[in-house]
Amino acid sequence: MFYLKNYGALIYAASDAITVPHGFSTRTGGVSTLDHVASMNFTTSTGDSEANVAENYRILLSALGLEPDSRVSSHQIHSARVRYVTEADRGRVFDDCDGFVTDRPGVTLVVKTADCVPILLADADAGVIAAVHAGWRGTVAGIAPNAVSEMLRVGANLGSIRVAIGACIHDCCFEVQNDFVEAVAAARGDAFADAHIRRKGSTRYADLVGMNCALLAEAGIAPSQIDIAADCTCCAPFLYHSHRATGGRRGTMASVIGIL
Ligand SMILES: [Zn+2]
Repeated sequence: MFYLKNYGALIYAASDAITVPHGFSTRTGGVSTLDHVASMNFTTSTGDSEANVAENYRILLSALGLEPDSRVSSHQIHSARVRYVTEADRGRVFDDCDGFVTDRPGVTLVVKTADCVPILLADADAGVIAAVHAGWRGTVAGIAPNAVSEMLRVGANLGSIRVAIGACIHDCCFEVQNDFVEAVAAARGDAFADAHIRRKGSTRYADLVGMNCALLAEAGIAPSQIDIAADCTCCAPFLYHSHRATGGRRGTMASVIGIL
């Protein structure tokens, strides 16, 4: 079950399925002042300052008991690549992956989204965690099951993994065109495309959450192991940054997880 938590002025979402420190930011509780990024924002690509973003990281990670300097992030390229990282990577910003796995305490994994799907995974018993940015390309290319594979490689147990899928664009709002449908069918087959892209009149809407759940199921993750945030970012741009709701003039949220 997802719920909103507050820490001072900060409001973030968390899942009771994940028992290690983690959080999904909202728009609330940061120091960014430009209207389109206010107030909690994690990108400098739409006009916000590096100082504001650094302070926003400090606020979010401090609320979770994580060290701001412990974060590992990426510029995110809509790939399916998941990197295993360690304390040697603290502070690094990669440019060749969209997800991370670690089994090291003191390493905070960060993914950033504003409609794409943020996925946090943990096997708390084994001490193995993951964070994934799953846009539609990364989703159909299998970044979520790739994270599971990498977790298993470093000691996680399939039945002990819990998955939290944060607020993202849902199929109420994610209208897609023919090229999207064809790309999904080419990657995963017609049946997969039919199952996760619904028609309403002549318009089609894609279900990225359903796609990720289906691919996680193929990797052995049962639905009971997955917790899904109910909110659609595009339906609630007052609470979340949404690329589609704003035409791209927006901030970015961060989803973070760490082991103490
Ligand atoms: Zn919506």
